[in-house]
Amino acid sequence: MSTATQFNSELRGQYRAKAYAAASAESPLAPMMIPRRDPGEHDVQIEILFCGICHSDLHQVRNEWSAMPTVYPCVPGHEIVGRVSKVGSAVTKFKPGDVAAVGCLVDSDGNCPECQDGLEQYCLHMILTYNSPDAHLGGVTYGGYSDSIVVKEHFVLRVPSNLNLAGAAPLLCAGVTTYSPMRHWGVTKGKKVGVVGLGGLGHMAIKFAHALGAHVVVFTTSPNKREDALRLGADDVVISRDKDQMRKHRGSFDFILDAVSAEHDINAYIQLLRRDGNLTIVGAPDKPHAIAAFSLLLKRRSLSGSLIGGIAETQEMLDFCGKHNITSDVEVIPIQKVNEAYDRLSRADVKYRFSIDMASLKSQ
Ligand SMILES: [Zn+2]
Ligand SMILES: [Zn+2]
Repeated sequence: MSTATQFNSELRGQYRAKAYAAASAESPLAPMMIPRRDPGEHDVQIEILFCGICHSDLHQVRNEWSAMPTVYPCVPGHEIVGRVSKVGSAVTKFKPGDVAAVGCLVDSDGNCPECQDGLEQYCLHMILTYNSPDAHLGGVTYGGYSDSIVVKEHFVLRVPSNLNLAGAAPLLCAGVTTYSPMRHWGVTKGKKVGVVGLGGLGHMAIKFAHALGAHVVVFTTSPNKREDALRLGADDVVISRDKDQMRKHRGSFDFILDAVSAEHDINAYIQLLRRDGNLTIVGAPDKPHAIAAFSLLLKRRSLSGSLIGGIAETQEMLDFCGKHNITSDVEVIPIQKVNEAYDRLSRADVKYRFSIDMASLKSQ
């Protein structure tokens, strides 16, 4: 830690907030008091109303990512919606009482090419909402499983007033993760779009592709997900194990979003793209994908990845949701049920996202 940072953290006042934290990779989440910084001149303090449970929370709490070792105690949560309780003197976009949101990012260097382009999610120095170095208080950042959070104004989003807040929380990660690649690859009216996997990400992808005017085809291994896919906005559902059904769609897709984190054959989907079609992966299987080069060469197809979205695009996504009245399908739980929810999430037993009602933490 630099001297400047130490100096800073000595100067900056702090207060104590209620939270749920994991003490180790094997520990269940349990109540804990954590420090939060007093809002500085550019900061917004938010009373958290709802926080979505993302699959990343589960991975990070259990220390399952070797590239991002977990620092304990760990307070996860990066799908945050709440009410502004205090603002710093230089804050212009928010005032106390406003509904506001925070996603996966709380800071970045602000001056690299990525930040200059409004793509803070690709900044080498981005600070994640939890488990990133905290320059203000030392240690690591603590996420949204808490009754409040203090975040730099630039990283705080506005929430359209018509949206249900429990259902809006997952937009901050699951929403923007699926919206951003669709915008980047030009999903619009008349395009044929595939969505692979119907879970937290997939169900948002269907809603966005449908609202953008595309013809939406959902690929699933479970025939019993058909009705739900159609209800969410799909025009067609393909059982991916059925070779005849898959063959019928060969060379026809403009864009496919692959949201599956389990091992699967990605070539089966690349073959479904038309010339110059793109397949973007937003799921991360443990084992590397094996790609058949010819399936890319033959029609100049491309394969890409995508990570959440920048701040400007996250705001654009929220405004789009306001206009089209899009929220995530959520099961609202009290924080006391979070460990049970993790067990169910690991079995994919949720339609389609848990959203924690943080009022339950107040009465703790
Ligand atoms: Zn997430
Ligand atoms: Zn940057």
